[in-house]
Amino acid sequence: MSARPDDSFDAAKLANPAIAALRAYDPGHDLPALRQRFGVRIAELGSNENPLGPSPRALDAMHAALADSFRYPDPRGASLKAALSRHLGVDVARIALGNGSHELLMMLAQCFADAQHSVVFSQYGFAVFPIATAAAGARPVRVPALPHDHSTAPLGHDLAAIAAAVRGDTRLVYLANPNNPTGTWFDDAALEAFLARVPRDVLVVVDEAYHEYVDAPGLTTALRFAADHPNLVVARTFSKAYALAGLRVGYLVAHPGVVAVLERLRESFNVNGIALAGAEAALADREHLARVRAFNAGERRWLADALAARGYASLPSQTNFLLLDLGRDAAELENHWFQHGVIVRPMGGYGLPQALRISVGSRVENQRLLDASP
Ligand code: PMP
Repeated sequence: MSARPDDSFDAAKLANPAIAALRAYDPGHDLPALRQRFGVRIAELGSNENPLGPSPRALDAMHAALADSFRYPDPRGASLKAALSRHLGVDVARIALGNGSHELLMMLAQCFADAQHSVVFSQYGFAVFPIATAAAGARPVRVPALPHDHSTAPLGHDLAAIAAAVRGDTRLVYLANPNNPTGTWFDDAALEAFLARVPRDVLVVVDEAYHEYVDAPGLTTALRFAADHPNLVVARTFSKAYALAGLRVGYLVAHPGVVAVLERLRESFNVNGIALAGAEAALADREHLARVRAFNAGERRWLADALAARGYASLPSQTNFLLLDLGRDAAELENHWFQHGVIVRPMGGYGLPQALRISVGSRVENQRLLDASP
């Protein structure tokens, strides 16, 4: 049979070299297909979603917004920004909205780094950091993590080493606090000392996706240092504690000049109208957030203790997930749980094949994980 014209068409060769070097996102298990196959019998503990679901007020606001779906959303997201501005005590000119914080993390590298620059992040920092760096064509500087037996942040960010890795060509540093997938954190004093060491022409991005879950002593938010450090960028999301992962809304707080640069690239309607309405209502429902925080703190402790009693040690966590560090290849255990309809996240892609990340689910889901534990 003769070759079809399609066979010799190599689109990757036509792609911009930075993009050609990337691999597409690995979505893991096909969850929609698994849901169809197993129905309610699967326990989804792989994506750090919030098992309590969104605020009822957010659901009402989203229902009300549906009728306006024939209109374009507010391209400025003014109402949500005003609510965030009041909530955070920062000027609206310091806020940018994203289609999830993922989008904002990508845009930061695209706007501020190119092939002339390096971008610094921790070895087990959030997966989007190296992707954003590569997509911008910048050079990644991956700083070795703290050791497995570190007393407060095993596998966490080594801030002293990260500061030392900043070079003349560095434009961006990505930190996640607390970090995914380790769950570990550093306190305000450590961040303050770090910021004092980093030159002002290097943007320091602190990804606080799990901020609302935090209750560790000495850790509040990087935002308290914003006034002294115009190079500081703080990113957050409505996907985790606000339980709106499916809506895709995130935001960042930065110097107005940084926001103005991002606005040049931002797609004009990047956050849809239902998401804008849902996020604003979710932000206003402080009681729901308090319930989420209390549930997560208690359930995380319970799950960590129950896993430990079965011989599975996890890292200290300030998030809604636990990282199990098995000390041996984790594929067999992951598959075992999978066969019992319990989905957890393998960590081979992070270079941690001996670890599994387990989201804190509902009590029913967590119990299923424990019941299915070998
Ligand atoms: N940062 C961290 C540390 C995360 O874990 C996640 C979600 N997995 C994100 C950012 C992105 O979240 P979203 O795009 O849903 O806002």
